Amino acid sequence: MNWLTKAINFGEKIKKVLKKRPSKEEIENSEWTSCCKGPILKKDLEENLFVCNSCGKHHRISCRQRFDILFGKNSYEILETPIPAEDPLNWVDTKSYKDRLKDARKKTNQSCAVMIAKGRVNGIEITSGAINFEFIGGSVGAAEGEAIIYGVQHAIDNQTPYVFFPCGGGQRMFESLIALANMTRTTLAINELKNNNLPYIVYFTDPTAGGITASFAMLGDIHFAEPGSLIAFAGKRVIQATVKEELSADFQTAEFVEKHGFVDRVVHRKDLQKEISTMLSILLKKNSEVNSENLNIETLTKAVS
Ligand SMILES: [Zn+2]
Repeated sequence: MNWLTKAINFGEKIKKVLKKRPSKEEIENSEWTSCCKGPILKKDLEENLFVCNSCGKHHRISCRQRFDILFGKNSYEILETPIPAEDPLNWVDTKSYKDRLKDARKKTNQSCAVMIAKGRVNGIEITSGAINFEFIGGSVGAAEGEAIIYGVQHAIDNQTPYVFFPCGGGQRMFESLIALANMTRTTLAINELKNNNLPYIVYFTDPTAGGITASFAMLGDIHFAEPGSLIAFAGKRVIQATVKEELSADFQTAEFVEKHGFVDRVVHRKDLQKEISTMLSILLKKNSEVNSENLNIETLTKAVS
């Protein structure tokens, strides 16, 4: 056996080993996922709001799972948002954009990356929006822009606060300028919310970057963030190459961004409902825990003395 045959045989062996690895679909349909300590049952993770018990990692979740946590299971209504003309540029690269949309819809059971819902948190009526990272990386195109604006209009029509959970890398390149135009459109929509004196709370989830941070996501009255989530405009490597400096390991994490003033508070998923209801009670000047504490200064003084 000469060296060439040996090399070919060795290559075949490697191929066989690689073939044994599970496909993307198999991983998705499996009951298991992995975290710091190896395999973990998806069911166990779900019971803990998809947060790892050992390391506290907040795993990525879908829009419906997000609303389940905010409003409680089956306690909200998903609003149907307008779907504009699809694939206006007839985009094709390694795959056509139409096929990408079809696959994303099948995978997520959503018509676009953004979902809008209405429900109540502690008696306060809320309009909420969320982005699903599994839908073409949570990118924003015409349909997503329309959905975000629809949510704003619903909040104004019903005089409710707007709570948004952004994620994603930015505008969808398959829609080119149409996607970019939605940065301006969503920004103007948020301004309308403010003209109507309605609170707008943003809760950053992992990862939020690019055109999303450069438009509607950074315009909140209050910014919360999930622990450990990436919040950025340009990526770390691009910045390092530009400023020619080594950046810290926690650069652009929620905790780093909080320290530098772009996020008001890092909030664990289990505290989400409480934090949002307290904040909205203050912003809407409703009776809240905080307000009642303020009213009881005498009691507090007595307790201290
Ligand atoms: Zn973990």
